[in-house]
Amino acid sequence: MFKKILIHTRKSIKFITLLVIAVFLIIGIVAYFFKPTYKVTLGGEEIGYTANKVELQTKISDYIENGDGQNVAFVQVNELPEYQLCLLKKDIVTNDEEIFEKVKSLGTSYYRYYAISKNQEEKAYVSSFNEAEQVVNTLKEKNSAGMDTIAISEKYETESKEFTTTENAVSLLYQAPVYVTSSNTKSTGTVNTATTISRTKVDIGISLIKPISGIITSRFSESSRIRSSRHTGLDIAASAGTPIKAAASGTVTFAGRKGSYGNMLVITHSNGVQTYYAHCSKLYASVGKTVSQGDIVAAVGTTGNSTGPHLHLEVRVNGVAYNPQNYVY
Ligand SMILES: [Zn+2]
Repeated sequence: MFKKILIHTRKSIKFITLLVIAVFLIIGIVAYFFKPTYKVTLGGEEIGYTANKVELQTKISDYIENGDGQNVAFVQVNELPEYQLCLLKKDIVTNDEEIFEKVKSLGTSYYRYYAISKNQEEKAYVSSFNEAEQVVNTLKEKNSAGMDTIAISEKYETESKEFTTTENAVSLLYQAPVYVTSSNTKSTGTVNTATTISRTKVDIGISLIKPISGIITSRFSESSRIRSSRHTGLDIAASAGTPIKAAASGTVTFAGRKGSYGNMLVITHSNGVQTYYAHCSKLYASVGKTVSQGDIVAAVGTTGNSTGPHLHLEVRVNGVAYNPQNYVY
């Protein structure tokens, strides 16, 4: 009885082993000659075969959502491809790339680009925001006038624009600044040149930045041979032509020649605070112009009562001059 069972079991094991081997052989043969493939159709039309359904689907949906990573922002498609499992002979060619191209060609691409406009008129188109920013920065460096009317806008359109090179965009948008030079003695606006100074440190309520970097050659309230009164400002030496930045945002209230100050620009800020920039070789802003902190408003010179190129900077509150070094430098 025991023996019989044992023999029976041995037979069964042998049979199962054979069966497993056979199954593996069949799978091996199928796997060798065939592979699972998907027939791809789009709107009922057969457009090809793929062996990598998931990969292709991911690639297509990624393209639809994110475009090509360059100027195509996203794609609008009416229909997505359908996949139907079929077993094909190994020598059948799959054409994932063609399927992808077909889907691409049937969709509507939305292009992303940036328009740079001046006075609300689109003047140049560039492919990236960085490029647009570069154009604007270059214009600022070149002291282009009318910077306050320049704007960058992001565009999404079904048709792309022809892109302008950075260089061409700059020349299209550049506007020569209005210069007031030493030969132009006309001055506009009003300025208080009283020699009243105060050595106290008052809170001016705004923060100032350095208009130029350079060496301090004469400090506030110093007396000197070339002046009859105490020094109403701070002298910072720098080479002629060095761009002078607005210490804070405000409105230009004086521009032009003013006696011993030479060419001077006065910016009026909030709280009755004013900054004076004197002995300039050039003034880039005229009275009434609104300037932002950091805007280039003039160039260092040696006009007026001056022995070498430097900026004479004054900080005044209601006409009284305070030590600029309480706020900058
Ligand atoms: Zn001075």
